[in-house]
Amino acid sequence: MDQSGSGVQSLGTAELPAIEGGTPVRSTFLPYARQWVGEKEVEKVTQVLRSDWITQGPVTREFEKEFARKVGARFAVSVNSGTSALHVALAAIGIGSPDEVITSPFTFAATSNAVLYLNGVPKFADIDPKTYNLDPDKAEARLSPNTRVILPVHFAGQPCNMDRLVAFSCKHRLFLLEDAAHALGATYRGKKIGSIGSVTIFSFHPVKHITTGEGGMVVTNNEAVAERAYMIRTHGIDKDAGKRFGKEGNWFYQMVALGYRFNMSEMQAALGLCQLEKLDDFLERRREIAGQYQSAFRDMPEVVTPHVEADSEHAWHLYTLQIRREALRVGRDRIIEALKAENIGANVHYIPVHLHPYYRENLDTKEGDYPIAEGLYRKILTLPLFPRMTDKDVEDVILAVKKVIGHYRK
Ligand SMILES: *Cc1c(COP(=O)(O)O)cnc(C)c1O
Repeated sequence: MDQSGSGVQSLGTAELPAIEGGTPVRSTFLPYARQWVGEKEVEKVTQVLRSDWITQGPVTREFEKEFARKVGARFAVSVNSGTSALHVALAAIGIGSPDEVITSPFTFAATSNAVLYLNGVPKFADIDPKTYNLDPDKAEARLSPNTRVILPVHFAGQPCNMDRLVAFSCKHRLFLLEDAAHALGATYRGKKIGSIGSVTIFSFHPVKHITTGEGGMVVTNNEAVAERAYMIRTHGIDKDAGKRFGKEGNWFYQMVALGYRFNMSEMQAALGLCQLEKLDDFLERRREIAGQYQSAFRDMPEVVTPHVEADSEHAWHLYTLQIRREALRVGRDRIIEALKAENIGANVHYIPVHLHPYYRENLDTKEGDYPIAEGLYRKILTLPLFPRMTDKDVEDVILAVKKVIGHYRK
């Protein structure tokens, strides 16, 4: 997503000039997220392309092994997206009609879509207004005899209250499936995200902590779930392709479950291995930028900066601000437009899932169902945050926010 060189005009913001006569804070557009792929990645992927084996094989297995070690899990199953990771995880757990899965509405729709793919029923519960994560008390109220899974999302990279969720899932005999698409590298009370719940999923979409172009991972310490996940990922066949196609292999195989075609290629895995080596540096830079934003915006009365829990290490996938509508002359949408005119790409995470037309029409959800998520949605915006941002980029974001908020202050 290289947007450098695309002027304000092409972004459709020409109707809204930058504040005070029109000189924007910067001359090129800064997106809210962007991957960082280096020459080493190009070399490693090229090496795979020149080899004899380019679909799931030894590099994929190595990536899985390294990834499992990195997040402190016994097993890792690579797939072609974070969405597929959710789908495979729920299928491996054995979700189907009429099973219910309790989850947050304040997430990307993929989280609950995966439940629907398997004819399960997503049951939303509202979020905690401070952390924006699933509120365990609200989750408890959604329990029914059909509840099988609790599916929390570590919003923006801040771990949920895992002590409460682990106790909750044990008490009610539920699988604890964590959507950690935002939380690679986060820790909760010294424990790595990926090592705590029954199953945890990650995404390698270009906006996430590390990328494989497209990709995802299911991790677990449960051997039975891992075995099923490996199988479901590749058609439901009980042997992997390396064993079937190699010289030592044998043509015979059996399809034992209705699986999918969700595996990763060796090119993706090679990219992932290189990116994984850079994860610690990426996290450090994300935390540094978030810290600069926190100090810059903490004392501005017109905005609310993210609350950070003292007992965990935030992975900072997203940096969000809440605007205080009562302190400003305009709403959130106008603030985003004004930032865009300054060439700063702000975004919104998330439109609560239950408000999407598909959910309203098929799950009978409506405005008012989850008031905390809905209220937050109207006030929240996401600022650019990615490791490749320069100090000047960070400064530009801070300047633009101060300029725009200052301009629209009451
Ligand atoms: C990105 C994301 C996903 C889906 O991952 P993809 O790799 O894009 O399929 C799922 N859940 C959340 C919370 C995400 O942010």
